[in-house]
Amino acid sequence: MAEKKLNGTVIITYRCNARCTMCNRFKQPSKPEDEISLDTIRKLPSMWFTNITGGEPFLREDIEEIVGILLEKSDRIVISTNGFFTDRIVKLAKKYPQVGIRISIEGLEKTNNAIRGLENGYQRGIQTLKTLREMGLKDVGFGMTVQDCNAPDLVPLYKISDEFGMEFATASLHNSFYFVETTNIIHDRPMVAQNFESLINELLNSKSPKKWFRAYFNHGLINYIYGQKRLLPCDMSFDTFFIDPFGDVMPCNGTREKLVMGNLNRQSWGEVWASPQAEKVRATVRSCDRQCWMIGSVSPAMHKYVWKPAWWVFRHKIKFWTKKKYSMYELKAVRNLRDGKVTKEQLDACSTCEKCGDRSKTL
Ligand code: SF4
Repeated sequence: MAEKKLNGTVIITYRCNARCTMCNRFKQPSKPEDEISLDTIRKLPSMWFTNITGGEPFLREDIEEIVGILLEKSDRIVISTNGFFTDRIVKLAKKYPQVGIRISIEGLEKTNNAIRGLENGYQRGIQTLKTLREMGLKDVGFGMTVQDCNAPDLVPLYKISDEFGMEFATASLHNSFYFVETTNIIHDRPMVAQNFESLINELLNSKSPKKWFRAYFNHGLINYIYGQKRLLPCDMSFDTFFIDPFGDVMPCNGTREKLVMGNLNRQSWGEVWASPQAEKVRATVRSCDRQCWMIGSVSPAMHKYVWKPAWWVFRHKIKFWTKKKYSMYELKAVRNLRDGKVTKEQLDACSTCEKCGDRSKTL
């Protein structure tokens, strides 16, 4: 199979200094000596977009070399980090100002520090963001994983990011091998959805087309937390891949168990991508029922099936001009819960939570 340009996520370590309530990855870290080598990274294909993530990627001492290699292969790179290691981040940003940085901030100070288990995590994250902005970095932003306890902070945090002139990326709770978690679930769906609705209206009200498309992504997050079918097809493993610290090439980070297409430590990229094992994984993806709505799988889909989000944006901008706002009740599942046609328990059963929110039984 000829090599084609792809979207990739490179998980360079499973070590993490944070202790987030929704992710147990820190309990199963990788050993530094087992982590993906520079030689393996050199074997990756050309990419439109590369996300470098972890664990906490800035725990890798050779992160600058990793970025240097990936810059030769990728049109755009974004690093996802908890922002704790300000000096290391600033040093890298000085060397590679074209690289994007997304810092996870899980709410305002008290909420963020409680969720992430990092003392001064909020202050350090914000300080890192401010420093990067002062340095003139353009592709800088927040990332927030929305759950019951931080949903009320969603719009206030968006407003802070807006003041700084930064990107604001959102996610919600997922369960998977990657998070070493099976019991994440939203409990008060209407409350969380209400906060997303407010954010969507803020985004639609802005002058930025990029934010209008982010509004669509957040609309999809409401749909996801109500356990409904994805708004767009999932083409992971066809045009997008993940690679983990052990060199295993995977379709995504959303499956219950890790799916492996091949191993880049032992094989060439062409061998992995064209292997019968990769085809088997693609068949599994085609019948996958997990309905994730994470930026890694949604962003490529939004580009590929652009007419669908574009039509949604068009309709909602027209609504705005006639003074009508976006409503979460546009989604049938949201109306059905309000009208008593489905119960909370029925929606819980649609989620990937295997114990429906009983965190006392967490792994
Ligand atoms: S829906 Fe897509 S991203 Fe989610 S687990 Fe299935 S294949 Fe992976």
